[in-house]
Amino acid sequence: MKLESILLPGISPERPIIISGPCSAETEEQVMKTAKELAERNIKIFRAGIWKPRTKPGGFEGIGVKGLQWLKQVKEETGMYVATEVATAQHTYEALKAGIDMLWIGARTTANPFAVQEIADALKGVNIPVFIKNPVNPDLELWIGAIERVYNAGITKIAGIHRGFSSFDKTIYRNLPNWHIPIELRRRIPDLPLFSDPSHIGGKRELIASLSQQAMDLNFDGLIIESHCNPDEAWSDASQQVTPQVLEYILSLLVIREEIQSTESLSILRKQIDECDNELMQILSKRMRVCREIGVYKKEHNITVLQSGRYNEILEKRGEQGQACQMDSEFVKNIFQAIHEESVRQQIEIINQ
Ligand code: PEP
Ligand code: MN
Repeated sequence: MKLESILLPGISPERPIIISGPCSAETEEQVMKTAKELAERNIKIFRAGIWKPRTKPGGFEGIGVKGLQWLKQVKEETGMYVATEVATAQHTYEALKAGIDMLWIGARTTANPFAVQEIADALKGVNIPVFIKNPVNPDLELWIGAIERVYNAGITKIAGIHRGFSSFDKTIYRNLPNWHIPIELRRRIPDLPLFSDPSHIGGKRELIASLSQQAMDLNFDGLIIESHCNPDEAWSDASQQVTPQVLEYILSLLVIREEIQSTESLSILRKQIDECDNELMQILSKRMRVCREIGVYKKEHNITVLQSGRYNEILEKRGEQGQACQMDSEFVKNIFQAIHEESVRQQIEIINQ
């Protein structure tokens, strides 16, 4: 891929490049107030969703085309570039007609090749920056597929946005970061600028600072962070938005390290270790949840907690697997013994409730 810079005139390439603004454009006053507060803090790219794909009906689905006029006003009054999400060809035509500077394709849309193709076709002949969020599911090929569809339509100013991946199990994140996926994307398309979206990954404003730092330590180019003049009253994603003032504070905390520093590779490796440990914890908690369900079943059917045949089978099978994966089989057995012990403890608790 021969990509061109997404940096429009006046935007500094210095990391992190910041895009900020509300999840949704709600009213003219909210858009203008938020935009002015951001412009005062030297933010150059303003985001606001006009069409909001909501998981369930009944939520605020966006203000629609009338919000495009507010974005135009932001451009005129603050000089910021403006960006919005498009999910259909119609959205794309409307946004282009209104002179929106940059577009992004949302996670639910990236997961749908027909929708992405429709947007790509609508973009033919207009080479404006297009940001492509990862699909909701952890599928790198689908993400790359969307990037290729847009690229094949002649758009060369493309960036990726890492916004995390949905999961059935409850975790501290709204969307699991699975950092290895954007890391692999960078390996596959080294010239693609990468943004992180700590607002949608974390789902809570308290997590934005640490997620942003992680993204910087993994050498992301930019951050897209939701901000709102009155976050608690936001019509969508209230808990993850911050005021422009708090955004400024979060950004002031960031430590930006250079990749050439010799300690960097170590810190990247440690981040990967942290990520693995987080995943281990998530898997463990999922396993324990299933064990508790088994506990309930055993109680209802009057079955003993300990089924020694099953226990031996687990230890043997995992021990062999461990050896095949360059681990000592005793080490693997010890781990599974400890896990099993905790499962038994939890089941006994349930049975005696
Ligand atoms: C958004 O950016 O407000 C949005 C809807 O994000 P995502 O597509 O990542 O859910
Ligand atoms: Mn949002």
